[in-house]
Amino acid sequence: MSDKIEHLQDCTCGCHSDEKEITDSIAEDSNIKSRRDFFRNATALTAGAIIPPALANATPGDTYRENEMQKNKAVQNGKAQFFSLLHTSDIHAQLYTHDEFFFENGKPVYKKRGGFAVLKTMLKTLKAKNPANTLIIDGGDCFQGGGVAALTEGKGIVPLINNIGYDLILPGNWEVVYGKEVMWHDLGGYNSAKICANMFHDTTDEYKGELIFPPYWTKMIAGVKIGFIGYNDPLTPKRQSPAYSVGIHFTKPEVNVTKYVKLLKEYEQCAMIFLVTHMGLAQQVDLANKIEVAGVDYILGADTHERIRKPIAGKYAKVTEPGAFGSFVAKLDVVVENGKVKDSNYQLLDVDPEKYKPDAEMAALVEKIREPYKKELNKVIGKTKTNLVRYYVIENPMDNMLTDALMWKFKDHGVDIVLSNGFRFCPPLVTNKVTGTADITNDFLWSMFPVNSEVKMGVASGQQIWNWLEKELHNVFSKEPADRFGGWVVRFKGMEINFTTKNEMGKRLNWIKVNGDPINPEKNYSILACEREGDPFDMLCRMENVTKPDKPGFNMHDVVREYLAVHSPVAPAVEGRATATDAPATLLSQLEGYDYEFI
Ligand SMILES: [Zn+2]
Ligand SMILES: [Zn+2]
Repeated sequence: MSDKIEHLQDCTCGCHSDEKEITDSIAEDSNIKSRRDFFRNATALTAGAIIPPALANATPGDTYRENEMQKNKAVQNGKAQFFSLLHTSDIHAQLYTHDEFFFENGKPVYKKRGGFAVLKTMLKTLKAKNPANTLIIDGGDCFQGGGVAALTEGKGIVPLINNIGYDLILPGNWEVVYGKEVMWHDLGGYNSAKICANMFHDTTDEYKGELIFPPYWTKMIAGVKIGFIGYNDPLTPKRQSPAYSVGIHFTKPEVNVTKYVKLLKEYEQCAMIFLVTHMGLAQQVDLANKIEVAGVDYILGADTHERIRKPIAGKYAKVTEPGAFGSFVAKLDVVVENGKVKDSNYQLLDVDPEKYKPDAEMAALVEKIREPYKKELNKVIGKTKTNLVRYYVIENPMDNMLTDALMWKFKDHGVDIVLSNGFRFCPPLVTNKVTGTADITNDFLWSMFPVNSEVKMGVASGQQIWNWLEKELHNVFSKEPADRFGGWVVRFKGMEINFTTKNEMGKRLNWIKVNGDPINPEKNYSILACEREGDPFDMLCRMENVTKPDKPGFNMHDVVREYLAVHSPVAPAVEGRATATDAPATLLSQLEGYDYEFI
């Protein structure tokens, strides 16, 4: 974007020199100051390598500035136009309005957010303000993560997305979950354009090495041409069961992004270039600092479900991310005058059912696609007396419950440690104020465990476990953003660990205890985890060369249902299975070195 731009009052484009003071005054007023300082101090050592922190807007939710663009003088007198990008991502097939987790004044707060019917009304309302010049974009992880999605292999979600009327879609790392053929079929059902510049056919025929989707998309809007280039997470085959991405080869964006930026700038004559990515915030910010993306204006990111309320300014591009589960819409407005980009305004808006009434047509469509599965999905399989939450990076009540279930089922098999590679995210399940409990349904079980994997066992030495955990912690806390993936510490039961996030690879673990005793490097321990399709048989949750690998013939869902039938109501809590010397139990994001906070 041009340097000589006239900024609106309250403009949030991230290039103002006076923003630091604003940040600090917000921080002074806020009870979260101590936590902000904690991270500032904790990350001081890495600060030299990065740009000054951008403003973290500590005003979540309700402070809408939706009308700022209409107030712009040039827009008012007809000299300028503006276009709007409405960006969602990581909806994870959450059909209904659900509880959503917020972190305010140092503690969790829950509000009702999302739902396809509310989301549709909101997008429709926002688009109606600028109908000719609004684009609706989704950044992936859309048709996976809930009961209907799992039982229809994503197909049930396609009509909902078409009913909203998306313009552009990027596949995320979860779009491969049902395999390449189904991904292709499901995405083929979308009426919107699809882009991805780093997913290639890995076949034995003449299509080997060809792109699966078009790499970019352009649009004439508000008198200018704008371009979008798509990038899915190149680590997809490593992060997830390798079997999912058989036949697909991924490359890093750095391999071809410069080529496409040049093409869009010089040949297509685009006034602005956007990368639509699904790579996680740490990697997206890393990419924004690389010369290869010079010429890109914004990286519209996704994957780690981060709620960017103020674009994070990298050296070459600004990065945004719109939260998850259909709970938020990121809105970027850009003022264009005589073919030149003049200003921009970015906001993260809540999909708030109190503000937007559910769309009747969408509500009916949701019921229709859910009908065949309704009885099974609505079935209550247990109750919880505590909130089931999976937003913390280090340890969560939800995963403690799931690993409790596995340990209970297999304790007589001599299992010492239960692991759940698990899933980083799930909307929370919040107890009812009157009854003091919340119903756990089969549908929610699919949200907690969106893949019903088989149970797998094996034996590993204390040393093997230690080395594997060091690697796992490196995946979460590496100083090198490109080495970070997923965004969470592996979940477990039967073991306690303590680590220092800022230490080097191989030196993070301070101690491990198994069944209360310090781990013995020489001793063998029996481990239970879940099968990752496509892994070697002697690999357990990315731990290589385990001995006596075995699949006793149980799946995760049955074990959890059985456990709840005996133990309901449960009351899982964070109990210190994993602790860090330099990060709080409430750590919510792996991004560090930037003035960003998940709220
Ligand atoms: Zn996701
Ligand atoms: Zn993802």
